[in-house]
Amino acid sequence: MTDPDQLHPATLAAQALGEIDPVTRAITPALHPSTTYVRDSDNQYRSGRVYARADNPTFETAEALLTALEGAADSLSFASGMAAASSVFLALEPGAHVVAPQIMYWGLRKWLKGLAGNWGLSVEFVDTGDLDALAAATIKGRTKLIWLETPANPTWGIADIAGAAEIAHSAGARLAIDGTVATPILTRPIAYGADIVMHSATKYLNGHSDVVAGMLATARLDGYWERITAVRSGNGGILGTFEAWLLQRGMRTLALRVERACQTALLVARHFTGHRHVESVLYPGLPDFPGHDIACRQMQGGFGGMLSIRTSGGEAAAIATAAAVRLWKRATSLGGVESLIEHRRSVEDAESLCPPDLLRLSVGLEHGPDLIADLEQALARAHN
Ligand SMILES: *Cc1c(COP(=O)(O)O)cnc(C)c1O
Repeated sequence: MTDPDQLHPATLAAQALGEIDPVTRAITPALHPSTTYVRDSDNQYRSGRVYARADNPTFETAEALLTALEGAADSLSFASGMAAASSVFLALEPGAHVVAPQIMYWGLRKWLKGLAGNWGLSVEFVDTGDLDALAAATIKGRTKLIWLETPANPTWGIADIAGAAEIAHSAGARLAIDGTVATPILTRPIAYGADIVMHSATKYLNGHSDVVAGMLATARLDGYWERITAVRSGNGGILGTFEAWLLQRGMRTLALRVERACQTALLVARHFTGHRHVESVLYPGLPDFPGHDIACRQMQGGFGGMLSIRTSGGEAAAIATAAAVRLWKRATSLGGVESLIEHRRSVEDAESLCPPDLLRLSVGLEHGPDLIADLEQALARAHN
């Protein structure tokens, strides 16, 4: 194989590193549904595989590809983004102090406020867009992990990965990034000093709204990564074989999908900025968006396919707009080929900081002007 460091991410992804099946010469990988592997007659397991809760060759295509795309040392796939994220926390010792964002994927915030406490972790939520606040919350010797999400759901605030890495490392902590929205096409957090990158592979990595999956990539092979690997097989949160196969198929078009979603999201963001029925557009690609300068530094090739609009007329107008779309699909989730619209406050919990007039938009691969026209007519109907 050609050295992956020399190849463009689009090339790496399209060929899933160019592996050819050594037995059949097939150019797409085989599915290995086997739950167990034969032991050698001298009682050894030279294949390195014993049982499929720990090892499955079908995981390896997607994992090796993510490792290359992230410039990582290794990757692991999981049953969901939450299984991946929670493993990072469960690999910490009880008593550890963790710093996490006030605004982040709400399902993980809920898990951190509930189950993480039972595990003995103490979690502090801060404005991770503010490095001074992050530094003030980080306790040397006690803080073991800083968790960031950038851009962060559902208001797309940007956190400075390099700045946070410095704060984490000088306190003896690790830095983990939820990179679901940026994808490795736009940001490679390890290059900015992150130790772990997490993806809900349900979203852009798979990209077709037909697999629930999660992935982690690590900057280095160490005892912490070994514990995370042990949490995966111990807790059993593994991906199914067929899902792993679909995931590697989806990842082959990642670069193209992300590029197109970024272009269309920017078109949509610009079109609705200053619109008579829109209070504000939240998108890191807009020059007056707070964090735009950091986004310019740490996002290459675009600002992502996610944006939100805050409608004039408050919550009722937002819900009425979502009700009036014909093309956008009213659904949760993101990063698929079809565009989704969601009144985000309705899905988050009571502690949500999401503004009630906010509509979250996941821009898919449809023709941009069609998406804009549909949102135009929906806003007009909701505001007449
Ligand atoms: C969806 C999502 C998750 C959770 O992933 P699942 O695959 O649904 O478990 C975590 N972080 C972000 C940013 C997400 O969008």
